[in-house]
Order: sequence, then C-alpha cells, then structure tokens
Amino acid sequence: MHTCQHQPELMSILSSLLQASKTKSRFVVGSHVWIEDADEAWMDGQVEEVNGEDLVINCTNGKKATVNLSTAFPKDTESPRGGVEDMTRLAYLHEPGVLQNLKSRYALNEIYTYTGNILIAVNPFQRLPHLYNNHMMGIYKGAEFGELSPHPFAITDRAYRLMINDRISQAILVSGESGAGKTESTKSLMQYLAFMGGKAKAEGRSVQEQILESNPVLEAFGNAKTVRNNNSSRFGKFVEIQFDQYGKISGAAIRTYLLERSRVCQISDPERNYHCFYMLCAAPEERAKYKLGEAKTFRYLNQSNCIELNGFDDSKEYVETRRAMGIVGMSNEEQDAIFKVVAAILHLGNVEFGEGKEEDSSAPKDEKSQFHLKTAAELFMCDAKGLEESLCKRVMATRGESITKNLDAKGAALSRDALSRIVYSRLFDWLVNKINSSIGQDPDSKILIGVLDIYGFESFKTNSFEQFCINLTNEKLQQHFNQHVFKMEQEEYTKEEIDWSYIQFVDNQEILDLIEKKPGGIIALLDETCMLRNSTHETFAEKLYQKFKDSPHFSKPKFSRSDFTVHHYAGHVTYQTDLFLDKNIDYAVNEHQILLNASTCPFVSSLFPPVEESAKSTKFTSIGSSFKQQLQSLLETLSATEPHYIRCIKPNNVLKPEIFENSNVLQQLRCGGVLEAIRISCLGYPTRRTFYEFVNRFGILHPKALSKGNTEITSTKMILEKANLVGYQIGKTKVFLRAGQMAELDALRTEVL
Ligand code: ADP
Ligand code: MG
Repeated sequence: MHTCQHQPELMSILSSLLQASKTKSRFVVGSHVWIEDADEAWMDGQVEEVNGEDLVINCTNGKKATVNLSTAFPKDTESPRGGVEDMTRLAYLHEPGVLQNLKSRYALNEIYTYTGNILIAVNPFQRLPHLYNNHMMGIYKGAEFGELSPHPFAITDRAYRLMINDRISQAILVSGESGAGKTESTKSLMQYLAFMGGKAKAEGRSVQEQILESNPVLEAFGNAKTVRNNNSSRFGKFVEIQFDQYGKISGAAIRTYLLERSRVCQISDPERNYHCFYMLCAAPEERAKYKLGEAKTFRYLNQSNCIELNGFDDSKEYVETRRAMGIVGMSNEEQDAIFKVVAAILHLGNVEFGEGKEEDSSAPKDEKSQFHLKTAAELFMCDAKGLEESLCKRVMATRGESITKNLDAKGAALSRDALSRIVYSRLFDWLVNKINSSIGQDPDSKILIGVLDIYGFESFKTNSFEQFCINLTNEKLQQHFNQHVFKMEQEEYTKEEIDWSYIQFVDNQEILDLIEKKPGGIIALLDETCMLRNSTHETFAEKLYQKFKDSPHFSKPKFSRSDFTVHHYAGHVTYQTDLFLDKNIDYAVNEHQILLNASTCPFVSSLFPPVEESAKSTKFTSIGSSFKQQLQSLLETLSATEPHYIRCIKPNNVLKPEIFENSNVLQQLRCGGVLEAIRISCLGYPTRRTFYEFVNRFGILHPKALSKGNTEITSTKMILEKANLVGYQIGKTKVFLRAGQMAELDALRTEVL
C-alpha cells in the first residue's frame, strides 16, 4: 500500500476533526477494545487493568492478553448488531471496526456494504435470488442513492442517472481476486442496464439481449474451473455500452484482455480446461460427428482428475451455449465450424511422437496417434501429410537460404501444443469480434457506460508472466483509483477555496515506470531479449539485475539466478522468469500459418489470414507490449468517464457459504485500496451540495432562514447552525459536509416532514 505522510499542521486539523467522532479516548478499566491477534487478526475484549502504558485485556474468547495501549483500538458497543450500511458512518473507523461490520452483515446475508461511494461485495457462495429479480430492479429504479440497502443496482442506477443528467460517460470498475464475485456482479450490473435502457424489440434480437447472451458464450470458451473458482474467467473484459440521446441502449463493444493460452494444453489437478471441451464431449450427437470419445480419453483434459464439475451439466450447457451463440448472431454453420475446431484441438492433443526414420527426426508414435492426426486434419480441413510435416519439421531461414530441419519427438510435441494454443486464441478472438459486429456499434452515441471485470492483484508461490501482466493492470488501475479518490478530492477543495491541508500520498508512478517505461522498463528489456538470438531467461534476468540494482521497487532474491521481485503497491511479488520469453512471443509458426491458411474450411482459413511478406521480417509482436498498449487505451477510455467502484471480497478459500476468514478479508481490503479510501474519505468531506441544492433540501429545517433578503449562502449557514453541526466547511459554491452529517440532517428532516 502507499503510505501517507501527514504534515504537522494537518495533524492538528485532523485531531480536531476526529474529536467530533471521538476516536481516541483514554482507556479505563471496563473499556471495550480491539487488539491484534495472530489467528483472528483482531479480537475484542474488555480492559481489566491499566498499568502505565500496558493494558491487561480479558478477551471475549477467553484469552487474556497484555498489550501496549497504543496497539489497542476502542470498540463501539453501541453500533447496531447488524452493522451499518455505509462504513463512513461507523463511530470508530479503523480496521477492526470495518472488519467487524462486514462480518456481522455477512452473517445476516447482507453481502453488500458501502464505503462512501465504493460498494463492497462479499461473495455469499450461495444463490440469493430475491436480491436480483425484476421486482428488485423496479425498487431501485429512481430511488435516491443511499436510500435503499447497498446493491450493485444502486451503483448502476446512479451511474445511469449521472450519464443522463450530466451527459458524461460513466465507468463501473469491478475488482477483486479470483472467485471474489466480479463476474457475477458484472452480470447483475448489465442486467440492470438492460432493464433501464432496453429498447422495445424492433426486429430480430435486441441489443440488450445480445449483450446479456454474450456472457454464456464467452464463459463457455474463456472460463474454466480453477482451484480458486469453479467458473473462473481466464480473461479480462471491458464492456462498453453505448446509449442514444434518449438513454436507450444503442450499441455495445466488448474488449477482452489476455486470455490464458497455456490452459489449452496444460492443466494441473484438480483444475479443468475451458468448459467448451467438456461440453462437446458430453453432447451425444456431436461425438459421432467429430469422432470424439469421452472427455477422459483426451490428454488435454485427462492431465487432471477433475472431469466432471459439481452442479454443472456439460451436455445441458452445450445446448445452452449453442442457443446463446445463435442469439449473438452466429449462424448454425459458423457454430458447427467453431466446434469442429474445438474437436480438432482435442484430437491434436492426443497425437504423440516417437522417433522417425532419420536420425533426430520424429513421427506419430503409433496407430492411435496416426488416427488422431488424421482426424484433426479432417476437422481442420487441411492436408494430413502437411499437418504432420508442420509439426515434425521446421524450416529455418538464414541469410536468404532456407533449410528444412527435423524436429525430435520433444520438439514436435512442443510444436503441436503451440499450434493448439494459437488456434484456440484466434478462435476466441474471432468469437469476440463476431459478437461485436453483430451487436453493432452506434457511431452517433455520445454517452456510454463501461463495465470492467478484470483480475485482481495476484501473488502465488510461483508467479509467471501472466501474474506479471495482471499485476501491471492492477498497478495501473490503482493509479487511476488514487487519482480519482485523492486528486479529485483535492482539486475540488482547492477550487472551492476551503480550508484543507493536503494529504500526500506516494503515487505508484515509479513502479509503473519500472515496468513499462520506454526504453528501459522491464517490458522493453524483455522484448529486447526476445529479439536477440541465443538469449535465455537467465540473460534476461541478468539484464534486469544490472539495470535496476538501485531501484527501490526492484530486488533480486537471494539464492536465485533468474527470479526477480517487484515491490508492488499491494506487496512484494517474486516472479520466475523461466517462461517469460516463450510467453511473450506472439506469432504463429510459419508452417502452421501456411497450412491453416490453405484450409478448405473458410472459417479455419479466416483465422489465419495471409501475413504480408514485409510484416514477417520487420514486425516483432510481443504479448507484453501489445498488452501494455491495450491497457493504455483502456485507461484513456476510463479517464474520460466518471468512475464507480465495486470491490469484491472472497470471504474464504473453501468456496462455502457462511465462512468469514478475518485475515483473508483484511488482506483483500488492503490490496483493493478500500482501507485507504475509507480513511481518506472520512478525513475529508465526502458529502457536498451546492447552496441551492442544500437550501432546497433542508430549508424545511429552518423556514426563517429562507426569508427574502437572505442569499443562499446565508440560508445555508443558518440552517447548519440551527442543526447544531460542527466541522463542516463552506466553500465558494458548495457546502462540504463531514461523513455522516448528511444522514443527521436527513433524520431531522424526516422528523419535520
Ligand atoms: P470472479 O469473477 O471474481 O472470479 P465469480 O463472479 O465467477 O468470481 O464468482 C465465483 C463464484 O462465486 C460464482 O460461480 C458463484 O458460485 C459465487 N458467487 C459470486 N457472487 C455471487 C452472488 N452475488 N450470489 C451468489 N453466488 C455468487
Ligand atoms: Mg470472473
């Protein structure tokens, strides 16, 4: 996390502000407190003895502990049992308070909680259908924000109305770790947008229907069971929903990021490959057509013992997927071609290689491999002999000459897997493009709502190129979040000339420079290494060590010759470079390209359009750089929008309802910037209203203040004095209220009304 440095004069302002919310009281015998605990993160108890700096605490769980009083936090005994809907209204705003609030709400199946404008969503791991039906959408439609229980519908409703009223595009950014509930939240947002902005069906399929049905299609091809989530999206997604001047959905565009390609050929127990493979094997009529056996007979699937997925009926899903594919504009012929390719990949995976006739050459190992090779070629509609050669031989071009070299069995197997991966990733891109072209863009649309569903910060035992890209994404988004929360607040205060000493936060720009600066950043060095002959991951690592030996955000782990550590905003992550080079290179092997371009199946051939001769030699495309560019353009889009944040939390790693693990949740709150945002928004003035708005709303509290001679600003001041509030600020055009004061005023207003 970034650290905040307070200026001395700021501290005095803070302490006076905080006095109002009675934060730091002295502890006496009998005080209720929170103290840190190794197992539970925080535990509560009562002060039994005060010995100078030390407190003896009788903990609720029976333990007894002695702690320094600076490490104890006051516990609010009067907070409602079920918690509060907006954490900025907690009497004591600190880590244990926030945690306790989320926990007690979770126990009542209140999975949503606001932190000012951020919605925190804790995954219930059980269906709560009453939360998402049409009736609920009707209730949220047009309700004041904050009037109803926290909900993704409320966030979406606010975004929609801001868009309509202010004509500013909006973005809803959903983040969280794998399995936290991002995709589910995104689906409910889109459902609500379709409800608000859906057009009556003219002819064919409506845009909103196609947007919703794009989900099952992309999930079939881009989701898989992982250890962390049974239906994990293995790609990032930004859906841009365009509206016409009447606020009706008029077009949409889906952008996807970094599909995990390695999964196609390699899975580890107990994970699964992409859902579509199992669906196809489970569809009886297709099995015969594509000469398929059961899923467990395919190597790409049986590397893991997990074939079937609880609660997931593959044959039913197949029918469902084909239905959705139809809705998003894929013809029956196209659907057949798609699944033919999926089947071909499965067959390809079963081709094993042994020694060939010549020395160091290779050939399909046995009759079974021959059969699968032949079937794959049939399905790709390409030449079987050509397919075999493209796998077992490699043409090397050196100084204008080309020589054909045999690959040994190992090399042929690598070539086979490379082919499977590139075909699958092109297939996925084709699906996204097709969906986009059939939904259609509205060239006249001036306002849009973007919904981002993207992987959160990742730090595992081993971290590779994927984690590196994912964490770059999160650095970028964190910067955007920082800029929004901090800079926007400060700019507003400055503009209004109100008394506010700035909180300085350390920006993460330096970490971003380390990764993506051109030239000289990690991505640039990786590309450089990939272009050099004879370079290895070790030479790459050596380059990094040299270049960044003095960087405060980079380190070389002891006892390692090729790992490197980046000090991310959310923590240190050590990356293993072994596969960085391979994973960064993005091109189809020339032999594969030529073979499939010549396929007599127009669909397959279209996945491999001819490469221009000039592009072949000059253009080196790397995944890292193109991803960096994609991110850049995403951030540009986002910066033209008003952002809204949903932070999803995974309360446990066993994916079961009713289990709330404190330390686990805290870690996620920190990584997502939630704790930081809470602190900032509470130190500042989270609620602001123009004098006109304020007087309009609260004039009723003090009718005398509205007498003729008074300006709006005078009326505002009089109303506030009458209401007995302290700590607010009067700006040039607006009044700035402290967290919770709006609620107080509203309560008074309710009494009067
Ligand atoms: P992510 O996209 O963050 O990886 P998902 O949205 O796929 O996570 O959620 C993982 C699983 O958690 C879902 O398949 C579902 O079983 C459960 N889940 C998440 N959010 C909800 C919710 N709001 N209601 C019910 N179940 C949910
Ligand atoms: Mg997901």
